[in-house]
Amino acid sequence: MRAQVLDDAPLAGLNSLGVAARARRLVVLDDPSALAEALAATAGFGERLVLGGGSNILFAGDFDGAVLLVRTRGRRLVPFADEARLIAAAGESWDELVDWSLSQGYAGLENLAMIPGSCGAAAIQNIGAYGLELADRFDSLLATDLEKGTTREFSLEDCRFGYRDSVFKQPGGDRWLIQELRLRVGGCPPVLEYADLRHRFPSDAPTPDAARIADAVRAIRRAKLPDPRLLGNAGSFFKNPVVDELRAAELRRREPAMPLFQAPDAHGQPRFKVPAGWLIERCGWKGCRRGDAGIHAEHALVLVNHGRASGAELLALARDIQASVASRYGIALEPEPRIVGDGA
Ligand code: NAP
Repeated sequence: MRAQVLDDAPLAGLNSLGVAARARRLVVLDDPSALAEALAATAGFGERLVLGGGSNILFAGDFDGAVLLVRTRGRRLVPFADEARLIAAAGESWDELVDWSLSQGYAGLENLAMIPGSCGAAAIQNIGAYGLELADRFDSLLATDLEKGTTREFSLEDCRFGYRDSVFKQPGGDRWLIQELRLRVGGCPPVLEYADLRHRFPSDAPTPDAARIADAVRAIRRAKLPDPRLLGNAGSFFKNPVVDELRAAELRRREPAMPLFQAPDAHGQPRFKVPAGWLIERCGWKGCRRGDAGIHAEHALVLVNHGRASGAELLALARDIQASVASRYGIALEPEPRIVGDGA
């Protein structure tokens, strides 16, 4: 048996919120050729959950099923002209991939530096930061249908990427195990429109290179976001809600200081993104703490585990935040991480 198997497995070290849940069975896949064996080891153990870096998941309780932990490694660059295709196994660390691509002289992923998690999960989530999304650099990916055992390529269109969304998050999408991610890097103009970056790189100053932009992104993130190795968290806990023009005008009337960003829908209709962190802060949650479950003092969008918070406690806090934002603004906040386990 090449896949490692553990029963009644602790998950605390496998989720960045640091929740001490357990899984009925844990199967570690570190070699793609052992996939059939790994799948066989999950059979008969109820629900199956594919886990990467665990940075976008809340275990609301124990997981009464089998967790398939993807730890496959391998990355390569295939240059063409001044660009390259960057190919990574699903279990590769996203941040290490960004770093490596830059060190090889290829710009393109710098705004997405320091996002925790694996490359497979990065595609599922269509990770984004500072005006850039994974979809903007996407080439294709390979995924295996866990029900049929067949592997196929997904194009940009097939993935149906949206705001922190993809076909893999839609109903039925979790039957796909992402094996390999392929991106296009090199020859990418810098994306510097977000205020935090523009502030460091004014438009009348010389254009910075990709390594400097990545350094700036890392510094900004370090200053604002807690390091999950020191304080459990799953990054942004809620998506930014998007409202129509009428609702945006109404909100603006009530709260003239509310930031609203244009985010037209797929048909070009005007829509406005409301920063969820701003709403949560206005409702008074920033820095609050209930036992070991809390909201980060520097960033109201980040739910934190100060030590021993259970998944149920974190979820209860998240639900209270949703209720208070709904009651004050009539806006339903949607969690960004996947919520699984007993009590979800
Ligand atoms: P921020 O700069 O304080 O802005 C708050 C929100 O407003 C952001 O979420 C961003 O939406 C939106 N925004 C700001 N400037 C914008 C512009 N010029 N055009 C359109 N939308 C704009 O945000 P922050 O919380 O410090 O985060 C900075 C970036 O890192 C954001 O892109 C955020 O999504 C990303 N981030 C992601 C995670 C995660 O776990 N997924 C965690 C931390 C930060 P968008 O979120 O749509 O960009």
